[in-house]
Amino acid sequence: MSELYEVLAVRYGTRQASAAEVFLNYHAYREPDRPLQMDYFFWVARNPARSVVIDTGFSPAGAAARGRTMLMDTMPALQSAGLTPDAITQVVLTHAHYDHIGGLPAFTGTGTAAEVIMTRDEYDFWTGPMGRRGQFAHITEASELDHLRELRAAGRLTLAGPAHQVAPGIELIQVGGHTPGQAIVTVATAGGPVILASDAVHYYEELERDRPFSIVACLADMYAAFDQIRELAEAGARVVAGHDPQVADRFGTPADAPDVITIEG
Ligand SMILES: [Zn+2]
Repeated sequence: MSELYEVLAVRYGTRQASAAEVFLNYHAYREPDRPLQMDYFFWVARNPARSVVIDTGFSPAGAAARGRTMLMDTMPALQSAGLTPDAITQVVLTHAHYDHIGGLPAFTGTGTAAEVIMTRDEYDFWTGPMGRRGQFAHITEASELDHLRELRAAGRLTLAGPAHQVAPGIELIQVGGHTPGQAIVTVATAGGPVILASDAVHYYEELERDRPFSIVACLADMYAAFDQIRELAEAGARVVAGHDPQVADRFGTPADAPDVITIEG
């Protein structure tokens, strides 16, 4: 029998964006531009046996370089979810953009033992020549990609294939699209499966109106990921979008701390 987990979304950052900035070729929809808030999250899946963190947020330097508002640095954000780095058994990286791996050093320093997991395709892309081309590279921090290399050399980074069991009840599924090795994570809970879509679905509008996001490595794969996630949703899974303020509206309860949203308690 699969293990069940509590799932949290921790909102650690925010910024004001617009629809034209967020959706690919927004002019094609012939709609006026509109403001769209972009929230930044990482996620926690835990039960008495283990605590898994999915993504790590951006670093203060990564945020400052892009004018992002950091609500909580990784360590206090983790503490707000009742966790400390030494309690984390695994860190899953859905992809290598600065706002997903920037907080990783908090989980890999002295006294930590967490296994770090990402897809092999993602690692190979960002440590290879194409990942250094301008339109790709500007969404990453070179020092953070170097940290992945260090972890790999130290035997701390597991490179996963297209489907990988992180732990019983927690699965990584590579979907690509947004980045070559973009992954989603499914988590078994008492209320049924939860899909942590990360940047395979930044906003629910991407799924509901079939609108790709503006940052895309392979558009056909991004559309195919929408199809795959819709199929899982139709089968009863609940989708947690990666950057949508609606996550709080859809899952939050008044008792929650404002930035720690209980997806499944
Ligand atoms: Zn991304």
